[in-house]
Amino acid sequence: MKQVAEFFRKLFDYSDWPPRWHCGKWSEFHGWLYIVSDLMVWSAYFAIPFIIIRYISKKHDARFIRLYFLFAGFILACGATHFFDAVTFWYPVYRLNALVRAITGILSWTTVICIIRVLPLANNLRTSADLEAEVEQRKKAEEKFRNLLELAPDSIVIMNEEWGIQLVNAQAVSLFGYTRSEMIGKRVRMLMPLDFVDVKLLQTPGNRITVREELMGTRKDGTQFPVEISLAPLVTEEGLLMAAVIRDISEKKLMEKAIREANITLEKKVQQRTAELERKNKELEQFAYVASHDLQEPLQTTSGFVQLLRKQYQGQLDERADQYIDYVVQASGRMKTLIKDLLDYSRIGRGNQSHQVDCNAIIKEVLADLHTMIADNDVLINAGQLPVLSSAYPTELKSLFQNLVINSIKFRKPGIRPVLHIEAFQTNGYWQFSVHDNGIGIEEQYQDKIFIIFQRLHTRSKYEGSGIGLAHCKKIAELHGGKIWVQSEPGVGSTFYFTIAEVVSDPVVKSL
Ligand code: ADP
Repeated sequence: MKQVAEFFRKLFDYSDWPPRWHCGKWSEFHGWLYIVSDLMVWSAYFAIPFIIIRYISKKHDARFIRLYFLFAGFILACGATHFFDAVTFWYPVYRLNALVRAITGILSWTTVICIIRVLPLANNLRTSADLEAEVEQRKKAEEKFRNLLELAPDSIVIMNEEWGIQLVNAQAVSLFGYTRSEMIGKRVRMLMPLDFVDVKLLQTPGNRITVREELMGTRKDGTQFPVEISLAPLVTEEGLLMAAVIRDISEKKLMEKAIREANITLEKKVQQRTAELERKNKELEQFAYVASHDLQEPLQTTSGFVQLLRKQYQGQLDERADQYIDYVVQASGRMKTLIKDLLDYSRIGRGNQSHQVDCNAIIKEVLADLHTMIADNDVLINAGQLPVLSSAYPTELKSLFQNLVINSIKFRKPGIRPVLHIEAFQTNGYWQFSVHDNGIGIEEQYQDKIFIIFQRLHTRSKYEGSGIGLAHCKKIAELHGGKIWVQSEPGVGSTFYFTIAEVVSDPVVKSL
């Protein structure tokens, strides 16, 4: 301890040794060679740390900064040992020299240890050849990307997270009318107000956003046009970039507008036509009603008197006169039926109120009314469980079923027992009924026509009828918010379908 204290106390004391010049036999040349060489080594070692520090300050490579400083210190210390070696030729400060050497030794080993520790990291550093190859690769990738960008059919603008334009393709140039240099570096707002989109939504790779808002793009000349935009993130080494694919939808908008306007015009026309048709229908119905109602009275008189004529004068006139009278009686009978049917037809739904109707009860009534017809023709009727309708017109509904059942029996296949199936099921807010028979069937080309009033497919001599029954049915189905149609195969049978809306609203019809 004492020695150490003495060492530091006499650190700059050189009285214990003669100057180096006087130790041994130095020739002038040998001594100065030693001194000059030492000073050259020292000055070089002194200069190197400054070069290193200057290098560090320029490169900003923070990874090895401590090692660089350590290395600079180590070299500075090595230089100092040479400096003191030269100094001892005049001032033998061997204690100071020893201290400098000790410091140099410590610094040297610290540097060695640090170098060993950073060696794996240093090994992983890319060589300049690696870096050059990488730069080359990047250039190629960038070129490919640019080519792809140019090939895209839509305009593409690539932006950074601050909505600054980084890249645009040729389509974007021609769409907006700016040159590339006029756009790059500027905010995207100059082209379209896109910056309201939350950038966070784009931070997940593959998260594509279609901008739902109707946006307007602005060209260099100030004109505006509607655009459709989808945004996609591009994760690059420089950070997140956003690619906006922009489509000018002016034409689409014009088309949409034209279609909308055409639709409105069409709708108006349809409404006008419907109103006109409804008015004409009403007029026609009114006419049919008035005509059939007013015709009843003179017809009643005519047929009454003709029957009287036959009763009182049969056999008194000649045979031909009797035959003529018979014709008139028959014709006036048919006319009576026709007028009654027409009157019934024009009365459908007039002034009635809809209410709850049990279809099972209706069918029961129909079958009871047609009991004789059913028995005479040995008809087998299978009626499934039918619904209780919450709102319907019972009289009209009964007439509908009755017409269909009568037709199924009337148009039976000769020699075959008529079999009928009556069913119903619920579908999309409607009850759908079906009346199926095994009768003569109807050819396809007549399947629509038979619902038109007075349309018949057979002569009266073959099948009795006025051709009004199915028109009746159609009107009743429509009164219930539904429709009627038939599926049939000639020689096999027919199925008549009709629908009734679950909720039927009463028509506003004035009772005549
Ligand atoms: P009508 O029975 O008085 O002739 P409809 O209006 O009831 O009048 O029927 C129109 C035509 O439809 C009938 O003349 C007939 O040719 C055909 N038709 C109706 N129902 C059936 C059925 N179930 N099978 C075959 N043909 C039918």
